[in-house]
Amino acid sequence: PIYFDNHATTQVDPRVVEAMLPTFTQVFGNPSSVGHLYGEEAKQLVEASQQSIALAIGASASEIVFTSGATESNNLAISGVLSQRRRRGNHVVTVTTEHKAVLDPLEQWEHHGFEITRLSPRQASDPLAGMLDPDQVRDAIRPDTTLVSVMLANNEIGVIHPIAEIGQICKEQGVLLHSDATQAVGKTPVDVERLGVDLMSFSAHKMYGPKGVGGLYVRKSAPRVRLQPAIFGGGQQRGIRSGTLNVPGIVGLAEAIRLSVAEMEEESQRLAQLRKQLWSGLTERIAGLHLNGPSLEATGARLAGNLNFAVEQVDGEALMMNVREIAVSSGSACTSANPQPSHVLRAIGLSEDLTRSSLRFGIGRFNTPQEVEFAVDVVAGAVDKLRKLIA
Ligand code: PMP
Repeated sequence: PIYFDNHATTQVDPRVVEAMLPTFTQVFGNPSSVGHLYGEEAKQLVEASQQSIALAIGASASEIVFTSGATESNNLAISGVLSQRRRRGNHVVTVTTEHKAVLDPLEQWEHHGFEITRLSPRQASDPLAGMLDPDQVRDAIRPDTTLVSVMLANNEIGVIHPIAEIGQICKEQGVLLHSDATQAVGKTPVDVERLGVDLMSFSAHKMYGPKGVGGLYVRKSAPRVRLQPAIFGGGQQRGIRSGTLNVPGIVGLAEAIRLSVAEMEEESQRLAQLRKQLWSGLTERIAGLHLNGPSLEATGARLAGNLNFAVEQVDGEALMMNVREIAVSSGSACTSANPQPSHVLRAIGLSEDLTRSSLRFGIGRFNTPQEVEFAVDVVAGAVDKLRKLIA
């Protein structure tokens, strides 16, 4: 099948593989073993990677903590802040459409006495469907609010939230802001100063890097964010996250971000063009399609490679079975261990039937116009066939 599921994960860019290779057999030392050249060389590689990642997001090197991915980064950010700041208050503001790696840790804290406000974004009929209004955050903040967590770009409908405005509000109110930027880093410009985030999660495998490595940006200056560690041990990374550093992964993450940022402008234009081709091909051939998420014309409101739509009058499961020649996702692949209808599509007001008959495309770096043409044929063929069956 042709791969169109780049929000779930991406193929590692061969240039990233190339950058990682020496770390397996040559620079294989433990970066904490600074007594010899093996360790020192590995340490230098980690530091250079940290520099390069920091540069890509407008941070400084000492503000980057390496983790096993965005799930861990989100957990560390949320639990690290909430266990430190309990005295300040026990109220948190988030959005119903966050990834489970934010919603579920918050639910755990709810069981331990925290109060969580889950804001509802704009609904399906709105041209900015899925987007949060900064005023909603302003209105939700209370004297006992200790953390706001709003993702930068959504993994299902690609909506980009107005984080810079939300950051300004949080700053004025003295509330920390965490943003899950897993789908955004490398795809859309990210600068921690401009966004005003205090903590920000990202992951290598969403931007053509390896799986199992990610990072958390932790603001050092005004306010200096203090985190309670979640993993204790050898005291690596100033004790915030113990464990021998994943040098191959870190080098891969750094090269993946560097390439994505360098090629972002060109790539996002190319992806937007492919998406336009896909959507116009589909809507020409299939009646009764509903775009899920913000309008494709709303520039800056949606990730360039994202397309999500519902198909009327077909059964969702049958649809997935009949588009096996392309790899796409129905709802969120990240939670397909439990095949529930997507909580994101439900949260923007889609009916359960339309949610189930929705397809998510994540067009990526290695897709071509020929592949998009093929995808149109596959989906149009499947919908035709299924509708004839019920006619
Ligand atoms: N947040 C978002 C928005 C995501 O899309 C994902 C991946 N599905 C994650 C967090 C989890 O990332 P990881 O796979 O690196 O743990």
